[in-house]
Amino acid sequence: MQFTQMTTSALAQSLKAQGIKRFYVMTLENGEVIGSHPFLSEWIESLKSGHDFEAHEGLFFEISDQYDVIHGAFVHRTCRGQAQGGTRFWQYPTFQDFALDGIRLSKGMTHKNALAGLWWGGGKGVISRPADQTLIQNQAFRKEIFAEYGRFISSLQGCYITAEDVGTNTDDMGFIFSETRFITCIPPKVGGSGNPSSATAMGVVKGMQAGLAHLQLGSLSGKKVVVQGVGNVGKVIVDLVLAQGAHVIASDISESKCQALRDEYQGKSITFKYTPIDDFSILYEPCDILCPAATGAVLNEKTIPLLNTKLVCGAANNQLKNPKQDGQLLADRQITYLPDFLVNRMGIVNCCNEQYGYVDQDPSFLRHLSDEWEYSVYQTSLNVLKRAQDDQTHPHLAAVALADERSRLLHPIWGHRGIAIIHTLKSKNWA
Ligand code: NAD
Repeated sequence: MQFTQMTTSALAQSLKAQGIKRFYVMTLENGEVIGSHPFLSEWIESLKSGHDFEAHEGLFFEISDQYDVIHGAFVHRTCRGQAQGGTRFWQYPTFQDFALDGIRLSKGMTHKNALAGLWWGGGKGVISRPADQTLIQNQAFRKEIFAEYGRFISSLQGCYITAEDVGTNTDDMGFIFSETRFITCIPPKVGGSGNPSSATAMGVVKGMQAGLAHLQLGSLSGKKVVVQGVGNVGKVIVDLVLAQGAHVIASDISESKCQALRDEYQGKSITFKYTPIDDFSILYEPCDILCPAATGAVLNEKTIPLLNTKLVCGAANNQLKNPKQDGQLLADRQITYLPDFLVNRMGIVNCCNEQYGYVDQDPSFLRHLSDEWEYSVYQTSLNVLKRAQDDQTHPHLAAVALADERSRLLHPIWGHRGIAIIHTLKSKNWA
């Protein structure tokens, strides 16, 4: 069996038995892709022929000492600065699924950071989560596994800087921080910026305003907004659009949360609908703006024909199941789509900025929410929608093209230092 088809735990066990603790794949300056061990050769050939890998600068893996867990760090492109993106703690059927998620997510971070005008490259962390629910809820286990991840990140010498993501929380970030300084989104008690969800919501609402301006539909006042998922981000979006005079229908898969919210928002122009996890009917509500703020892949060949909106602008990552095809399906239906990685950037902006200290009414944060700054959510959204129109393409592809151009600009002070770090890891035989 190809090692990529093994479960992450079986692969971890097998590599441990062979005395292999670490392995990597790197793209050299001449474009050659190399691996640290012979067993990687076949996988490298398949990475090169697929369209997801796209010359990642480095993929790094380490096997946990005590558990059958694999730590991964995926560095896509570091021209603008060190690779930045959160670490996901998730369960995958096979190593192939684990690695593909990391590869796709790190590329997404290159796009997100470059579109936001941040001087950071794109990267992502993934830790394979064991199936045992009791274990993953055990704080001693989490402390150990995230501290170990911190040591792994330190060993990468700063080519990748991590943050919080799906399956992790600020306490976990604290454990990682105990072993590395290459981390953001750490708890406020140790100088971090904590949970960035409110900032994310503000950016999404600026995207909505830009979408309405592009469509010449005026302000949010009087508009009908449908929000799928009222979690950390969705609830703040609800508050912001209600404050601007919108009417809202919001859904969640938690019945108790919906009931509590009905009580909390009594007298406001909002309806809460409980929807079971496999019920997507909320997406088909007639509205001006549809805001997916729960999970990814909700826009696909099944749902898009049934949408009843003018604009889609939401927080959820990877809303298009098949970006090229589904972006076109939306365009064919004359539905304007603002790519998630453009409008949900404020979380990572918040995290990245925490490295530079705190200022009241921080101008380098607020400019992302202004209407004027060329890299603001508002201006970038207008830019992408116009570019899509001019190039007769759809906004997802227009946003990727713009992000790709910007992501190749070199950091004004440090140049392409991330790749220099990666080459140092190779020369010192990191694996
Ligand atoms: P969260 O877990 O706090 O909230 C998600 C909410 O959606 C929960 O209340 C959950 O019950 C609900 N939900 C799940 N599936 C649903 C479904 N099918 N229909 C309706 N409701 C459903 O997460 P969050 O931090 O609010 O993030 C929401 C989305 O935004 C995620 O996709 C996340 O990756 C993305 N995002 C978040 C941030 C951030 O700063 N938190 C930044 C960028 C992107």
